[in-house]
Amino acid sequence: MPSDAENSLLEYHPQQYGDDPTSIRDTDKYTDEYVRGFVEKWDELIDWDQRMESEGNFFIEELRKRGVRKVLDVATGTGFHSVRLIEAGFEVVSADGSPYMLAKAFENGRRRGHVLRTIQADWRWLNRDVTGRFDAVICLGNSFTHLFSDRDRRKALAEFYSALKHDGVLVIDQRNYDSILDHGFDSKHQYYYCGDQVSARPEHMDDGLARFCYQFPDGSTYHLNMFPLRKQYTIDLMRQVGFQRVDTYGDFQETYHEADPDFFVHVAEKC
Ligand code: SAM
Repeated sequence: MPSDAENSLLEYHPQQYGDDPTSIRDTDKYTDEYVRGFVEKWDELIDWDQRMESEGNFFIEELRKRGVRKVLDVATGTGFHSVRLIEAGFEVVSADGSPYMLAKAFENGRRRGHVLRTIQADWRWLNRDVTGRFDAVICLGNSFTHLFSDRDRRKALAEFYSALKHDGVLVIDQRNYDSILDHGFDSKHQYYYCGDQVSARPEHMDDGLARFCYQFPDGSTYHLNMFPLRKQYTIDLMRQVGFQRVDTYGDFQETYHEADPDFFVHVAEKC
């Protein structure tokens, strides 16, 4: 067993992708991509005030209009949406597979006067660790992209589906990978949902991998290896696991030109 001192050193270890980073296409990888140093930097990356401004009340209104009260945030990260929804009056359970993310979310919640109900859970086995049924499951911040196989994506969606009440709603967002794969990356997309001090850009793209590099003003650099989900594929998967209706917004708008939005938001209803 490592001692506490050894553990804290381990927590701050650098990200490790080995000699051939683009060969790493593995769902389990997220657990050591979100190393403590990156998690500490995450709020600098997403800039809560700027993000609040850019998304406005979109999620709150989508949930309210469906009469949602109980929400399961399955990709809590540092707690941005969990905190926003608690402050908007929803009852929220905050889950994530990364203990470092959850610890940071708890700390962020405390600083704003909330006690987050956190549960460490991997989406593939969500209902083993999370009990109860929810009016809504949210998986935001381009998180679903961390699943690298079709099987894992189906498994996770099936777990989200069964965590919902009979008339529940699932909200998933994703980067507009179609646009990057088909037309290349445009630097105007560089700062979406990021603080303007941090750059996020793809370092490698192919049909099976989007490897992004995040550069911070202090010179530190982190990476994420993600699966480039095509929009229609995600919609088809949601329908195939049983969601009856899927509405997709482009940068929070109902109408858009396919290549324009940075992000898509899918709102999937069970009935
Ligand atoms: N939603 C937050 C936000 O918008 O800032 C966090 C987004 S971050 C890109 C992705 C989150 O998904 C991380 O906190 C990561 O730990 C979590 N995650 C990725 N794959 C997961 C899995 N298989 N099970 C549970 N959590 C996972």
